Amino acid sequence: MRATQALIHLDRFCRNLRAVRERIGPGRRICVPVKADAYGHGAIRIAGTALAAGASHLAVAAVSEGAELRGAGIHAPILLLSQALPEEIPEILQYRLTPLVSDREFVEVLAQAALSEGVRCPVHLKIDTGMGRLGCLPDEAPGLAAGIAALKSLEYAGTATHLAAADSGLPGDMAFTGEQLSRFREAVEQIRAGGTEPGIVHAANSGGFLRHEDSWFDMVRPGILLYGYNLTGTDFTAEPVMELRTRLTFIKKVRQGESLSYGRTWVSPRDTWIATLPAGYGDGLSRLLSGNWQVLIRDRLYPLVGRFCMDQCLADLGPETDIARWEEAAIFGGSAPSAADMAARLHTIPYEITCNINKRVPRVYVG
Ligand SMILES: *Cc1c(COP(=O)(O)O)cnc(C)c1O
Repeated sequence: MRATQALIHLDRFCRNLRAVRERIGPGRRICVPVKADAYGHGAIRIAGTALAAGASHLAVAAVSEGAELRGAGIHAPILLLSQALPEEIPEILQYRLTPLVSDREFVEVLAQAALSEGVRCPVHLKIDTGMGRLGCLPDEAPGLAAGIAALKSLEYAGTATHLAAADSGLPGDMAFTGEQLSRFREAVEQIRAGGTEPGIVHAANSGGFLRHEDSWFDMVRPGILLYGYNLTGTDFTAEPVMELRTRLTFIKKVRQGESLSYGRTWVSPRDTWIATLPAGYGDGLSRLLSGNWQVLIRDRLYPLVGRFCMDQCLADLGPETDIARWEEAAIFGGSAPSAADMAARLHTIPYEITCNINKRVPRVYVG
């Protein structure tokens, strides 16, 4: 197998999931978002692990992601979080996905398609309480809910909203989340008052789970937290699940004044040993790591030097080293700085770091 590998620590994922379950208590369900190939961790393995560890639902963004899970023999309910096209309805029905619906037009087309297929399609009503992407207005929710419940080819299985700033502890953001939650609670109450049972009520992403206990309702949907990143600074330990490793495929002595890599941006200030690592932006790492990251070899960090290339990068081992060719190096995770540290360095979020690690990097499941 290739030297550059993403180790996926399933035991850590399970511990993160168990810790969430302990906090929410036995009466609530967990939906595990496995969109974008489980944030880069591998949707099929993560889904199987999550369900075995007590999750009840999975969530995807694309119909194709749901189809992949069904193809792997997964039978749990799969929420389709993003709005699909009308043309995708046959596949929604074929793969028994549970779309989140926001409007009457789509509901009616879906119901008609389900009726002519002779199937009953479960749906969750999505209410926009302040995220501004999808969802009906809170005022429209009771009418839409009653409309769904009246359609025999649909099963009204749940009611959801999504929080825009729940990970933030800033007073304005805390207040905004409180406002979102009260709009949601009120809409759910009005659905009930209208004589419609709202099904599974859910709102909490990782931030909601961590900071807003009143967002837990019947089910929580934490994603990034289960993959090991608590971005809130609150008291909840999550273990990073992905570890990106490679090997040193070449080591050479470089003389003072010699330049390395494209553009000759780095000129060696002294005689030194340089290691070549077979990982680059062609693996989904950012080229902004050029001269801007350190890799862990044994128990020490060594700086990347020169331009970060498509398939390779270079680390400076220093003028004296006993590090040998073929040794292992950690790019992030494990004992090395995490994907969250790399994200901070690159002014982004760990979601983007792990999602971007692409197909060229084999996932190796451990634990
Ligand atoms: C991705 C997503 C989540 C999970 O969000 P995290 O920030 O990773 O916890 C929850 N709900 C919806 C609708 C999402 O799209």
